[in-house]
Amino acid sequence: MSTTPRIAIVGAGLGGLVCARVLQQHGVPVTVFERETGPRSRSQGGTLDIHEDTGQAALHAAGLFDQFLALSRPEGQEWRLYDRHATLIRHDQADDDDLSRPEIDRGQLRALLLDSLTPGTVRWGHLARAVTSLPRGTARLHHHDRTGEDFDLVIGADGAWSRVRPALSDAQPFYAGVTLVEAHFDDVDHRHPDIAHLVGRGTMSAKAGHRSLVLQRNSNGHVRAYINFRGPRNWHAGLDLADTQAVRARLLAQYQGWHESLLDIVRDNDGGFINRPMFVLPVPHSWQRVPGITLLGDAAHLMPPVGVGANLALLDGAELAQAVIARSSIDEALDAYESVMLPRAADHAKTAQQMLTTLMPDSDSDDAVFPDSLWPTSNLPDPHPAHTS
Ligand SMILES: Cc1cc2nc3c(=O)[nH]c(=O)nc-3n(C[C@H](O)[C@H](O)[C@H](O)COP(=O)(O)OP(=O)(O)OC[C@H]3O[C@@H](n4cnc5c(N)ncnc54)[C@H](O)[C@@H]3O)c2cc1C
Repeated sequence: MSTTPRIAIVGAGLGGLVCARVLQQHGVPVTVFERETGPRSRSQGGTLDIHEDTGQAALHAAGLFDQFLALSRPEGQEWRLYDRHATLIRHDQADDDDLSRPEIDRGQLRALLLDSLTPGTVRWGHLARAVTSLPRGTARLHHHDRTGEDFDLVIGADGAWSRVRPALSDAQPFYAGVTLVEAHFDDVDHRHPDIAHLVGRGTMSAKAGHRSLVLQRNSNGHVRAYINFRGPRNWHAGLDLADTQAVRARLLAQYQGWHESLLDIVRDNDGGFINRPMFVLPVPHSWQRVPGITLLGDAAHLMPPVGVGANLALLDGAELAQAVIARSSIDEALDAYESVMLPRAADHAKTAQQMLTTLMPDSDSDDAVFPDSLWPTSNLPDPHPAHTS
């Protein structure tokens, strides 16, 4: 480009940070505006499996792959599927040298990206209110304090409830009919050996009808549980969500008839429960190009969390930065980026929606159907035979 573009990224999530990193690596200045007050102001969530063709490709582009590998847990790819009687239906082991989809704590990955940026890149405590387009293809970012700042490119990497999205589209996230309730177990090998046994080194899922219980091992003996069910968004009507005992009783009532060892996931967790109703954007979600403004990650394509959202956010971020670097104008860069990202996102969102319907059907029959095609490791090379007990 003939002059250095002024670039703002709204949101210091994985997608925004990898975009900033790739830009800086190529000498393009960028500022990231983040509403959180600091890098550790909020727990960053659970573990992510980073896929070879998407998330890992982005980390290669960012020159951070080896550091990622050093932090990642290939053994975390182990998967167990149980029915509601706690009978192990399928068990995929994972070799320590299998690098198809190694797991990493989201907090570790975010810290790796943050540490790779020039100090001062992220302006913490900056809630963006909106973005508006200006003549000559530039855009104004409206800050929470009612001031504004003009840029040649504003990138909305601000997640599900993006404040940048309305500049491009009228789409609003809507409830997908499924809720995840999150629970935690600390020091699981010593304090919760039965939970440690259920989850093994990676992920376990117990499923019947439109209910499931999922455990995921994070680093340092931390395990996150997701209590998942299809139902109304107000499943907790009449309850105070801070009243752990009352929430537990309501959840246990939903899992009547499940094996005692599985019910311990709901009974024995440390601390309270976090209610996470699942929101999605319409599929496909698209927009007519607006000069100087674009979206990446969940802001562009919020979909059911079936294991691709963070990976796509990383890939979007890296590819958008590469387009800005390679093209002679922001307009050309956005054409190149959006013409690949939008159809890819639509394909993934459609598949994610189908997976959600299969995993959480409308009917609540007592089965544990888990089609082979949905098995998370089904496309790994040289899969191990299933072990059952
Ligand atoms: C329970 C659960 C499990 C998941 N598991 C997986 C998984 O295993 N694998 C996978 O690939 N994906 C997974 N996902 C999906 C994944 O979390 C998201 O797709 C991913 O985080 C999207 O990244 P992002 O950078 O687009 O947005 P985010 O990670 O949401 O980051 C957005 C950032 O923008 C900031 N922000 C928001 N609004 C503003 C504003 N107005 N001004 C300034 N800053 C703002 C936020 O504070 C945040 O830091 C899961 C999701 C959930 C809910």
